[in-house]
Amino acid sequence: MRKKILAGNWKMNHTGAAVQTVLTELVQTLPETKATLIIAPPFPYLAQAVSLTAHTPLHIAAQTMHWEEHGAFTGEVSPAMLVDIGVTHVLIGHSERREYNGETDRTVQQKVAAALQHGLTPIICCGETAQQRQAGRTDDLLGTQLRMALAKVRMADASRVIVAYEPIWAIGTGQTATVAQAQATCAFLRRQLAALYNSDIAATVPILYGGSMKADNAAALLAAADIDGGLIGGASLQAASFTAIIRAA
Ligand code: 13P
Repeated sequence: MRKKILAGNWKMNHTGAAVQTVLTELVQTLPETKATLIIAPPFPYLAQAVSLTAHTPLHIAAQTMHWEEHGAFTGEVSPAMLVDIGVTHVLIGHSERREYNGETDRTVQQKVAAALQHGLTPIICCGETAQQRQAGRTDDLLGTQLRMALAKVRMADASRVIVAYEPIWAIGTGQTATVAQAQATCAFLRRQLAALYNSDIAATVPILYGGSMKADNAAALLAAADIDGGLIGGASLQAASFTAIIRAA
């Protein structure tokens, strides 16, 4: 049985006071759960978040990183820096990074390899646009995104990744994928993992769904056979809405 994972992606939201308030409330009101819990705050607050959640079940993720160790990369943050301050997970290739920051399947590949090399758990994001889905290209596109992301990941490391399926048309729109759509696509991704590696690895790697997940749709999505958790944007910004999802899981 794969453990459920609930990860909150705060994107570019909250300044220091809100980070303090929300994380403190979250720690104080966390329901009993077997799920792995992760929060990804913006870069300036990562160290604060690590310290506020020390000795709690919450893990802290970065929302992106560079693949190089150090050097002349103005504005970038290296994997070693994240590890140094106690970050354990990192989102790689979120569709917003691909759309607004020029990330490609190739940079995703370099970042995933670098994360694993540094002992960070990469949460590899993939997803299709509404047009791509309508054109029947979803599986083809996601197959390529996943294969490229994992191209430098050896069999021995493959079970250390997390995959997140986030249909772009469902992100921040309130238009959640149906359970059938999300399940079918997550099952497709799992079959791809089996083809790329083997069935043991496919059975081990957690596959999350993201896109307008909320307390009222989380239970049904998370009950699907191949959906192992959620990558949650808007509903992770407040402690009450995130804990409601944890309770529903
Ligand atoms: P929403 O939950 O706000 O749709 O965002 C999903 C997402 O992009 C998480 O990474």
